[in-house]
Amino acid sequence: MATSTAPEAFTRTTSTIPALFLERIGKTPDREAYRYPVGDEWRSLTWKAAGARVKALAAGLLSLGLGREDRVGILSNTRYEWVLIDLGILCAGGATTTVYPSSTAEECAYILDDSTSRFVFAEDAGQVAKLRGVKAAMPKLTKVILLDGAAEPIDAGWVMTLAELEAAGAAHLAATPTAVDDATAGVTRDHLATLIYTSGTTGKPKGVRLMHDCWAYTADAIAAVGFLTDADLEYLWLPLSHSFGKVLTSGHVKIGHTVAIDGRIPKLIDNLAVVKPTMMAAAPRIFEKVYNKVVQGAKDGGDIKWRIFQWAIGIGKQVSAARQAGREPKGMLAFEYRIATKLVFSKLQQRFGGRLRLFVSGSAPLSREIAEFFHAAGVLIVEGYGLTESSAASFVNRADKYRFGTVGLPMPGTEVKLAPEDGEILLRSPGIMRGYHNLPHETAATLTEDGWLKTGDIGEIDGDGFLKITDRKKDLIKTSGGKYVAPQYIEGKIKATCPFVSQVIVHGDKRNFCSALVTLDEEATKKWAEGAGLTGKTYAQIAASAEAKALIQTYIDQVNRELAKWETIKKFAILPADLTVESGELTPSLKVKRKAVEKKYVEVLDEMYQGAMADV
Ligand code: AMP
Repeated sequence: MATSTAPEAFTRTTSTIPALFLERIGKTPDREAYRYPVGDEWRSLTWKAAGARVKALAAGLLSLGLGREDRVGILSNTRYEWVLIDLGILCAGGATTTVYPSSTAEECAYILDDSTSRFVFAEDAGQVAKLRGVKAAMPKLTKVILLDGAAEPIDAGWVMTLAELEAAGAAHLAATPTAVDDATAGVTRDHLATLIYTSGTTGKPKGVRLMHDCWAYTADAIAAVGFLTDADLEYLWLPLSHSFGKVLTSGHVKIGHTVAIDGRIPKLIDNLAVVKPTMMAAAPRIFEKVYNKVVQGAKDGGDIKWRIFQWAIGIGKQVSAARQAGREPKGMLAFEYRIATKLVFSKLQQRFGGRLRLFVSGSAPLSREIAEFFHAAGVLIVEGYGLTESSAASFVNRADKYRFGTVGLPMPGTEVKLAPEDGEILLRSPGIMRGYHNLPHETAATLTEDGWLKTGDIGEIDGDGFLKITDRKKDLIKTSGGKYVAPQYIEGKIKATCPFVSQVIVHGDKRNFCSALVTLDEEATKKWAEGAGLTGKTYAQIAASAEAKALIQTYIDQVNRELAKWETIKKFAILPADLTVESGELTPSLKVKRKAVEKKYVEVLDEMYQGAMADV
């Protein structure tokens, strides 16, 4: 076991992303930069054409009075315009504030106001309506720029379309031809580039301050890892409001390959068959979904198909083990693997278009079982690790050097050490944030004076430098979709809303949705039970009744309406007894011992997730 790793030496060449973007246009103007869907068709944009649109967008923002480091929000799903708008903001010297399109109106208002965003790009009429309802809470926000559709008369003067902004940009450039070039030339590594909001444990998101230095570093580090060449075709669907999706856009400008962009998850599998990418990054949830679909499909195909499938997986696992040990299969095993590939694995590969070389998984832990299953089927998923606070790219397995169950080796230029007291992972690199926006206390608690980021994750480093995440110190849940959930915040809301609840434990770490374990307040529930025809029943009988379930459900529904989609409680169970100190479920100060309760009721929890992961 090691306790630290020094940074791998590498040379930084990128100064800022805007400068790199201009360089890229100069180097490969006619190469395809972006591919994007229009109806059923995929269209292309060269670097030069992308450059022209970015310049018009940047000029449009300057014409609205955008100043250095002024924040501009983007409230949109992943689409190629998102990337162009972000580049436009950066080239104009502004700083992007990312907002998830699924955020509630209150969350949008909080983020846009906290960041003092002056302008926001909104994807469609639905997003504009959301903003309109909370306009008074965002006094600094003077303009909404609409991507799809036309502005409503009621929003006259407040909403303009993207085309109108680009036209204003063209007019501004006609009058002041060097406006954008001057703004871009003035951007330095020390300027704020992006504010990405990440969950806080109290429910209020914190703005992570990522500078141009952070993205310039990640661009160089991604290129140095050598995953991609300019001949690659990457498929990008990850939310760009999150650091994992966002960091890929830096690597793209550096490497200069083609990126096909479509954030619509239901289209993902169909699109892969058409686009035929060579690389894709995803959260583990996507791999779980594909895994379940493939296994279920084989099971539904009848006894013979299922047996062939299991045989093929068995052979694949032997081949995977050999390859993990650095050997290529030989003799009988190689022969059987060829048959297994023909009968079973080639179909899985075809699902991804047939050209896929590499998947990168990040944002939440990838189960080793799934990584090995895919590897057995000839598809390599390399797992990586990082935080919004570290610009996402901190660790990654390499295509030629990987260890399943670990998050790989540090990115070039990243240092790691484990805190001696508890094994907390500490990271240092130019990609580390420069603090939380307007939160000096939280910043001081997270960044040390000599630049180390306290990740809140616990890990082990093996003798070869591979990092394994073993636990989480911070009180946050990560779903397998990679989304943070602050359990205490939701538990507090449920308790405040429902008078019949005694304790709630929100659960969902590494799961594909959130659930809750609930206990009832004995006094309140017994009173209610009398009026509900349950007179004389014991606590356990009331807890097990359909009436109690329906009662609690109404309150859960009410709370769910105020939560982001991924935070909502999809299922819950009422426990047969309230939590006590004597049973070891509460601390003497009456705090819930989350892990102890989850362990005791693991079967109740597992039942709620039945079918979420198929068995081979
Ligand atoms: P975010 O800021 O949303 O990217 O979340 C960062 C957190 O996600 C980390 O601190 C980890 O707790 C978790 N995380 C990211 N990648 C992984 C991974 N590969 N395995 C385990 N946890 C991960």
